[in-house]
Amino acid sequence: MEYKARCHCGRVRFSFRSPEIASGRRCNCSLCLRRGAVLSSGYIPSADFTPHHVASDLGVYVWNEKVLNNYFCKSCGIFVYIGDGVGDKDGYRVNLGCVEGLDPLALEISVIDGASLPMVG
Ligand SMILES: [Zn+2]
Repeated sequence: MEYKARCHCGRVRFSFRSPEIASGRRCNCSLCLRRGAVLSSGYIPSADFTPHHVASDLGVYVWNEKVLNNYFCKSCGIFVYIGDGVGDKDGYRVNLGCVEGLDPLALEISVIDGASLPMVG
């Protein structure tokens, strides 16, 4: 399926192809606890993902071991996706709350134990 997504104010837009989304993840790491988003279950391969096209609209937050870039809209502050990780992670993990026509709270949600991962914490 083709999914379209946007931040709250609409400045940042992105889209991706994926099988129909039936589940999401939350995470107990120190960052995810604070932002509270429902994440896509996995990483969407770069080949199936179209990021926002104006890089200057995006803020990026990199932390801890600097393995993942967390992107957010500079205008409304909403976290939109994680991507461009170094190492073995290809693709993007998205904030399902940004996806048009999707109710993230109606999905089957499971929890990632990010707090126990040495690279995250
Ligand atoms: Zn925005």
